[in-house]
Amino acid sequence: MSPRVSVTVLHRFCGAVAVAALTVAATVVPSAAASAAFPDPRPGGDAFLSRPWAPTFDPADPMVLVNKAHPVSPAGWAPDDLVRPDVPALGGHDRLRPDAARALERLAADAREATGRELVLASGYRSADYQRDLYARYVDSHGRRAADTFSARPGYSEHQTGLAADVAEAGTPFTGFGRTETGRWVAAHAWRYGFVVRYPQGAQDVTGYSPEPWHLRYTGKGLTTRMHLAGLVTLEEAFGAGPAPDYAPAG
Ligand SMILES: [Zn+2]
Repeated sequence: MSPRVSVTVLHRFCGAVAVAALTVAATVVPSAAASAAFPDPRPGGDAFLSRPWAPTFDPADPMVLVNKAHPVSPAGWAPDDLVRPDVPALGGHDRLRPDAARALERLAADAREATGRELVLASGYRSADYQRDLYARYVDSHGRRAADTFSARPGYSEHQTGLAADVAEAGTPFTGFGRTETGRWVAAHAWRYGFVVRYPQGAQDVTGYSPEPWHLRYTGKGLTTRMHLAGLVTLEEAFGAGPAPDYAPAG
C-alpha cells in the first residue's frame, strides 16, 4: 500500500524539494518550438490573464473545482467512462477519464524522452468508499489534524473525479517524486499537457494541503496555459474562488 509510505519523512524534506521544483518551473522560457505548439491563447492580452475564470462544480467537467470548501457533488458521484492509460501502474487504482488518460500518456512519453526515466501512475481514480477507508487509516496512524493536511476526507478528493493522478518515477516511492529527474521535468512541463501540480509549495493556506509534487490534476490545456502565462499556481487563484485552507466546521 504505497500511499502509507513515509509521509512523516516527506514532511521533512518535501519543502526544499518543492521549492527547487517550482524554481525550475518559474524560470522555464518556452522555446520557439514550444510556442508554435502552444500558441498564446490570449484574446485580450493582459486583461485575459487578470480575469479569473469562473469555476464549475459539475464533477464531469474537466474544470471542476474540488477542495475543502467544495466537495464532489452529488456525493458519491462516479465517472462512467474510465479508461486505463497506456502508462505503467503501481496498483489497482489505474484508471482516469479519457482526456486525462491520453494527456498522461503524452506527458509520460515526453518525460521518458527528456529524462530517460519511466513515469508510472501510482493512483488515479478512487471511489468515495475507497477514499473513506484510506482517510480513516491515515487518521488512525497520524491523527485527524495531520491527516487533513495530506489526505482528503471522503467526498472531497479530486481522485473521485477521475481527473487526478498521483505519479512517480519508476523505482522511487511517489513521496520522493519531487527530487527525481522526472519530478523536476513534470514540475516544469505539466502545464503543456493540461495538468496542474495541484498542491504546490507555499500554497497550503490556499489549497489546504501540504506540497504534493506527485499529485497532478487534469483541467485541459486552455486553463493551464493561461495559468502558466499569468504565473498562477493554484486553481483557487485561477478561478478567483478564494482560499480553501480547511473544512467548514461541522454543523
Ligand atoms: Zn493525489
